[in-house]
Amino acid sequence: MKYVTALQDSQRLPRNASIAFHLAALLTFFVYGIYRFTHDDLFLFGVFSLALLPISISLILEIQHRGTMLHKQITLMLVCIAIVIACYFLGYKSLIYVFPTIFIFFFIFDLKYASIISSIYALTCLISALNIETFALIWRFGVATFDCIIFAAIFAYIIAKQKAVLIHLATTDELTGALNRKNLTTSLNRSIGELRQSGTDASLILIDIDHFKMVNDTYGHLVGDKLLSQFSDVIMQQLPVEAKLFRFGGEEFLAQCENCGLQKALELAQRLKQAVSQTQFDGVPVNISCSIGVAELRLSDSLEEWLKQSDIALYAAKKSGRNKVMSRLDK
Ligand code: GH3
Ligand code: MG
Ligand code: MG
Repeated sequence: MKYVTALQDSQRLPRNASIAFHLAALLTFFVYGIYRFTHDDLFLFGVFSLALLPISISLILEIQHRGTMLHKQITLMLVCIAIVIACYFLGYKSLIYVFPTIFIFFFIFDLKYASIISSIYALTCLISALNIETFALIWRFGVATFDCIIFAAIFAYIIAKQKAVLIHLATTDELTGALNRKNLTTSLNRSIGELRQSGTDASLILIDIDHFKMVNDTYGHLVGDKLLSQFSDVIMQQLPVEAKLFRFGGEEFLAQCENCGLQKALELAQRLKQAVSQTQFDGVPVNISCSIGVAELRLSDSLEEWLKQSDIALYAAKKSGRNKVMSRLDK
């Protein structure tokens, strides 16, 4: 669970990796600051010393667990300004530091922004270094820099794709394609927060297949599996795009519907019930039905209460003969 949360925290740079970046940058600027000082280059000594300041502040925040992506982005921009200035006075000796900084952009900005900002930064450094370098040398550096940005972008793209696959695998039920319960609490709490902050309606629709055990017992477990998968497809086709479908238990599914008050949720539940009863499930010659409990979110609801009310409504639907939709019973 811990790892899934870390994966989902977009753009996340692990803290220890971030600290390593800071230390490497600190050491580099410190060594070159001293070097410039001993060579009586007080201007660049001042520039490098100034660059040490934001890096140190950022490192302290990171160590104190107070680091944010924004402060790392600001720090990187300030460091880049120092490198652009150094390129103007030192030429290729400073241009070589454009390469490692390019990679950092891809760790702390989205792929698109990292590509754009690092290109602008590299171009600025190259133009700045033209002050003392020949055009032929700047051209060579330009080609290498361009390659570096492309390779870093490809690398970041591959990582982003793999991350998306991992998140999908970790949060999706393999058999039915519905979401598993990993993010259920977070997702429901978000709805509760939105109702309290901006009055956005939300409803839960808890769906349970009727007499599903009979399907397993009569037609076999594999047919039961196939039915679950098909059932989930039928439900997902009916749900609005912003709704989420969780596999809540064995043959129980929970739809979380945003911008959906009681009336809308009841209409949707009726459509779901109808779609299920009109579906011919593979290998099952009898009609399949489902019972549904609907609970609109109320301001006083805790997460547990909201879920409990949908469960009570579902139980009432079962009790009243199955193949029914019932709304929450408490007033
Ligand atoms: P009711 O109408 O009261 O809901 O009756 P039911 O038979 O649907 O409910 P019950 O809780 O008695 O049985 C649910 C069955 O679902 C029992 C369990 O073996 C089966 N089941 C749970 N998960 C899976 C699964 O992944 N695949 C298959 N094939 N069966 C499953
Ligand atoms: Mg059932
Ligand atoms: Mg059940």
